[in-house]
Amino acid sequence: MVTRADVVIVGAGAAGLALACRLGEQGGHDVVLVEAPPGPYTSPERTWCTWQAGEHYWADAVSARWDRVAVQGPTGDAATYDLAPLSYTMIRSPDYLRVASERLSRSGVRRVEALVTGVVDGPDEAVVHGADLSATWVFDTRPTRPSASGRVALLQHFRGWFVRTTTDAFDPSVAGLMDFRPPQPPGGVAFGYVLPTSTREALVEYTEFSRAPLTVEQYDTALRSYCSDVLRLPSFEVVAAEQGAIPMTDAPFPRRPGRRVFRLGAAGGATRPSTGYTFTAAQRQAEAVAAALRDGQDPCPPAAYSRRHLWMDGLLLRALDGGAVDGAEFFAQLFRRQPAERVLRFLDGTTSPAEDLAVMAAAPAGAMVRTALRRRQVLGI
Ligand SMILES: Cc1cc2nc3c(=O)[nH]c(=O)nc-3n(C[C@H](O)[C@H](O)[C@H](O)COP(=O)(O)OP(=O)(O)OC[C@H]3O[C@@H](n4cnc5c(N)ncnc54)[C@H](O)[C@@H]3O)c2cc1C
Repeated sequence: MVTRADVVIVGAGAAGLALACRLGEQGGHDVVLVEAPPGPYTSPERTWCTWQAGEHYWADAVSARWDRVAVQGPTGDAATYDLAPLSYTMIRSPDYLRVASERLSRSGVRRVEALVTGVVDGPDEAVVHGADLSATWVFDTRPTRPSASGRVALLQHFRGWFVRTTTDAFDPSVAGLMDFRPPQPPGGVAFGYVLPTSTREALVEYTEFSRAPLTVEQYDTALRSYCSDVLRLPSFEVVAAEQGAIPMTDAPFPRRPGRRVFRLGAAGGATRPSTGYTFTAAQRQAEAVAAALRDGQDPCPPAAYSRRHLWMDGLLLRALDGGAVDGAEFFAQLFRRQPAERVLRFLDGTTSPAEDLAVMAAAPAGAMVRTALRRRQVLGI
């Protein structure tokens, strides 16, 4: 028998839980959250980092916070930047789930466990197959492929070790955002990322922006070399690891595949193509959808990024992919020449056109302009 609801949310990851919590808090709608049963469709645990000013909606889930970040250029030139009024925060997915579960338990949102096999649109409602549900609005957050191929398909792929050292080795007041000292791969950019949670504990990641992921052995080799040869850590143990690959593409992720069906989060284009950051844009989408439902408006999730930012991202990705830009030098230079707080807002897609121009001017402009001109020729404009 099919059960009817006002809203069905498919998937209980970052975006699905964000929307469920907001709808649960505001009330007024019969909401069902469909979670995949434990198994291959459940997302592995992960660590989300974001930046924001003021109080965080997920403050109770934040496990570390930094007011300063460090960026190291390829030749080792290091700089530390104050982020005020922003701070960089870490949320571990189990903490996020715990806080979301507490919120949902105080709300009327129903949680059901089912493997959704399809969502079928209709004029008045959509049907969620596999969960025996129908709803006026369905928000689908299951991972999906873009609706068409893009001009560039890179990946931000990485593996991180949670390390514990035997003696003090980290400064827990500074997050190491990008360290370009690891050997740069052909046709891509590589950097270390160090998030210290105490003087002896940190998440240390090796990240590449390139076309294909590495094997676990290759990541581990890169991490071992980064920890020992670059960071020169004293003896340490690896207490846990996490790994991921996030698409960096200019391909489209439609937010409205049907009259009554929407996509939200990474599936709805919340991943910033040039960086892989997704979390904050997914929160913005969830907030906007909840507000639209509250106000009786069409609840289509807003575009996560402006056309201007997506255009700039397309240029950068093409320049990186084609080797027209030295990625390590590009990002190091951005931070050197612009306030770190502005660079982070740029990466979030919340800078104004004037600020974007300033950021672009700080970038190695020649290569970007050449890429833009080539693109205009290709497009015949
Ligand atoms: C290891 C890792 C670290 C990351 N770190 C950051 C970061 O620091 N900052 C940042 O901004 N972004 C980060 N990202 C990118 C992005 O924020 C995450 O991928 C984020 O989880 C996306 O949220 P989402 O809700 O869109 O998708 P997901 O969190 O992947 O949620 C999708 C949900 O759909 C469910 N599902 C799938 N199939 C079915 C089905 N058939 N039936 C029912 N449910 C189903 C899954 O179980 C899952 O709960 C990271 C990604 C990874 C992989």
